[in-house]
Amino acid sequence: MDVEERDVVIVGGGIAGLVAADRLRDLHPVVLEASDRAGGRIWSRQRGDLALSVGAHMFPPPDSVIGGLVARYGLQVEAITGSMLNIFLGGRLVRDCRPELLPFRLPLSLGGRLSFARAGLRVKRDAAAYMRLLEARAGDTEAAVRLRALRHRGDETFAHFLGHVHPDAYRIFEALANRTIADPAEISQSAMAALLGHVWDSGDLGRNMRGGSGQLPAALAADLGDAIRTGCRVDRVELAGAGVTIRYTGAAGQRTIRARRAVIAVPAPLIPPLLGDAAPAELARVAFGPMVVLSIRTNEAEPMPWDDLYSILTPDLHFNMFFNHANFLNGRGGSKPGSVLMIYGGGRRARELMGRPEAEIEALLLADLDRLYPQVRPRIAETWLQTWEHAGPYAPPGRWRAQAALEAGVADRIFFAGDWVSEFVSMETAARTAVDAAGQVRER
Ligand SMILES: Cc1cc2nc3c(=O)[nH]c(=O)nc-3n(C[C@H](O)[C@H](O)[C@H](O)COP(=O)(O)OP(=O)(O)OC[C@H]3O[C@@H](n4cnc5c(N)ncnc54)[C@H](O)[C@@H]3O)c2cc1C
Repeated sequence: MDVEERDVVIVGGGIAGLVAADRLRDLHPVVLEASDRAGGRIWSRQRGDLALSVGAHMFPPPDSVIGGLVARYGLQVEAITGSMLNIFLGGRLVRDCRPELLPFRLPLSLGGRLSFARAGLRVKRDAAAYMRLLEARAGDTEAAVRLRALRHRGDETFAHFLGHVHPDAYRIFEALANRTIADPAEISQSAMAALLGHVWDSGDLGRNMRGGSGQLPAALAADLGDAIRTGCRVDRVELAGAGVTIRYTGAAGQRTIRARRAVIAVPAPLIPPLLGDAAPAELARVAFGPMVVLSIRTNEAEPMPWDDLYSILTPDLHFNMFFNHANFLNGRGGSKPGSVLMIYGGGRRARELMGRPEAEIEALLLADLDRLYPQVRPRIAETWLQTWEHAGPYAPPGRWRAQAALEAGVADRIFFAGDWVSEFVSMETAARTAVDAAGQVRER
């Protein structure tokens, strides 16, 4: 069988793999992507200015790696203006509430109110302490900041940090943890401080892409041209001599590439079977959780009660988050093109739903949505259900101990990229680890 020779092969065509390829263009990389499209967990279907979406939707500011690509391809991101601090609890929607006032406005028992106020204050203080760790210090590298952040309360679970809390308060914290795809007894306080710190402290509500997030990986993949090979599942990545041998299966059968370096940009749990004995044991410290996502397009022309808000935490429902992805159009005037909404359940909620028939999952989610917004069902034009087995990584206790090994890669020849190499789950952190991995390919 012919063996192809390359300088560098990238395994996985999600945003991390694409950014790595972009940074290594002069080395003529090959990106092997198992599915029939690039983009991984950034996936949308355009509907005019809107888009159904089952993956990433909030974009970082212009001065980021992702922001640079958005500008390069002339894509339009629009500021989210609707509030994010909304909770639907006990059948009541509490809107636009400052976090410190939530214990007084939510329908809680007296014990639950006091417990939520006390624990909430500690959670908020710790998130602020976490965000201070991200501030640049003399001599910092990106890797140093990642490690510093992961170490912060990195051996303690969120449940332990909370201590004993009233059950009423617990279900709110559980819904927050489910937003990060994990349950309170699984996730470290470090990872929860990251989520809450980013939501509370940035003051930046983020932005959505007009026409859908999937346009970004599609534009980058088109620009990379025949460097991207979709429908090519990598079966094995082996150290061989001074290089790496990559075996994959594509439409034309099994193929082999011999490369000097490789970047592996697939979710961590998929790596041990690829690397076999060469897989660092530390990969086991990276945990991924599942998520069930339903994207819904509605066809109303009239105003709806969700128009001016972006997200709602829903602790009592099968899903724990509601998003209004049409929010950026609110207040723009002109005729309304309907809405696109996203609801998802992570952690325990996803595990309870997964394995059931899709129609049953969708029926359960929509029945719960009736409780929040009965206006949705009669206006549904289209739905898209997606179950992500590996929806996102979260840092369990001890995760920080793996960081040095994950940043180093394997034998100076195989490097890792992806959101799981980082301290926070986002397309931007995934892209930044890819920039670092590309730098290592060059350096070595
Ligand atoms: C519902 C949801 C909402 C989110 N919301 C946001 C948000 O608003 N903002 C934000 O910034 N982030 C968000 N994220 C997170 C964001 O999507 C991810 O952090 C980011 O897309 C991860 O990119 P990646 O390249 O590391 O991994 P992935 O996107 O998972 O890419 C990995 C790729 O590797 C491929 N692959 C796997 N195995 C193989 C193999 N053996 N051979 C070849 N290819 C293989 C996969 O098909 C995939 O394309 C969200 C995620 C989800 C699921």
